[in-house]
Amino acid sequence: MTPSPGGRVATPSPGTRDGGFPVTISIVGSTGSIGTQTLDVVSQDPSGYDVVALGAQRSVDLLVAQALAFHPDVVAIGDASLAAELTSRLPSGIEVVAGTDGLASIATVADVVVNGVVGFAGLTVTLAALEAGRRLALANKESIIAGGPVVARVRQTPGAEIIPVDSEHCAVHQCLRSGHGDDVARLLLTASGGPFRGRKADELATVEVAEALAHPTWTMGPKITVDSSTLMNKGLEVIEAHELFGVPYDAIDVVVHPQSIVHSMVEFVDGAVVAQLSMPDMRLPIGYALAYPGRLGTPFGAIDWSALSVLEFEAPDRATFPCLDLAYLAGRTGDLAPAWLNAANEVAVEAFLAGRLAWPGIAEVVEATLDRYEAGAGAGGRTVDDVLDADATARRMAEEVVRTKDVR
Ligand code: MG
Repeated sequence: MTPSPGGRVATPSPGTRDGGFPVTISIVGSTGSIGTQTLDVVSQDPSGYDVVALGAQRSVDLLVAQALAFHPDVVAIGDASLAAELTSRLPSGIEVVAGTDGLASIATVADVVVNGVVGFAGLTVTLAALEAGRRLALANKESIIAGGPVVARVRQTPGAEIIPVDSEHCAVHQCLRSGHGDDVARLLLTASGGPFRGRKADELATVEVAEALAHPTWTMGPKITVDSSTLMNKGLEVIEAHELFGVPYDAIDVVVHPQSIVHSMVEFVDGAVVAQLSMPDMRLPIGYALAYPGRLGTPFGAIDWSALSVLEFEAPDRATFPCLDLAYLAGRTGDLAPAWLNAANEVAVEAFLAGRLAWPGIAEVVEATLDRYEAGAGAGGRTVDDVLDADATARRMAEEVVRTKDVR
């Protein structure tokens, strides 16, 4: 295949972790959907994994309950105004750190760092874990999408590695283990199609927030669920796949698969397609990222083949769901364009959830914001500040666009 800018396709190479068992784990975003499911996975094998750090933005009650159950050494709270309350409710042996720096600091203290933070805020956690040479179990796709040029550099730190905790990328990671990177023809990312699959633009003009949040196959947080309804989630995942595996955009395709059982596929140059199948259950990708290159001893999402009757595949409706192609456009533009795409989308989704923007307005805001993107000096020397600036500028522009839109 044509070599990508990052060189040959990055097939995962099994290695060994230092330090032996138990593997220490830090969970940033421990009170969210990925965080609570990670603790569920760890609970199945308490002798194999030791949770040494937990962090959340502001859910003090759940964070306290988790700390009392898992006895970490340190607990981080993103909202520093809650640090005193948190400290007063924890045993004195547990250290409390606060603020964005506090959350980033716990991303350096374990063998495996789970980044389950929602949105762009996860960037500092991703960078801290990689700079410290840790394994990053990455559920926060926004950080590798928006921060691509910086993350790519920091990933070269000795010991640093990213194991994706996104069902599609976990699937691709597994499928790539069956061949050589040079023999990869293309990646096929599957998409459920979301709650609005089969509907046309005129039917989607007035959909309610609750309808967008009713995902047919996956139970996830509100932001990613809205992203699934627009297909922006798949678009972001195309960029994520490009960044993670170094595959060019022309060799990444999206296939709608409503059952969400085939989690993604890799096609090799001889025509063979290798797929990973399981019932939709995020605990499988979480366990994979913890146990890699081995396998978690507990099955999650195992298929009952006597009950499984049909697997359907169809092409995505790119006209009704323009966010998919907007993501390809941003990805191909490269440099900081994906940061703009991500920021505009976060602003638009927030406005939609708050009732300030109609559902079709999400794509309109993203498109109008991306229209204003001007290519900068070049991707080679990007700094974290460049990414933060791009994010802030794009957010400001997206907010301006939101204000020009009718709610419906
Ligand atoms: Mg996914």
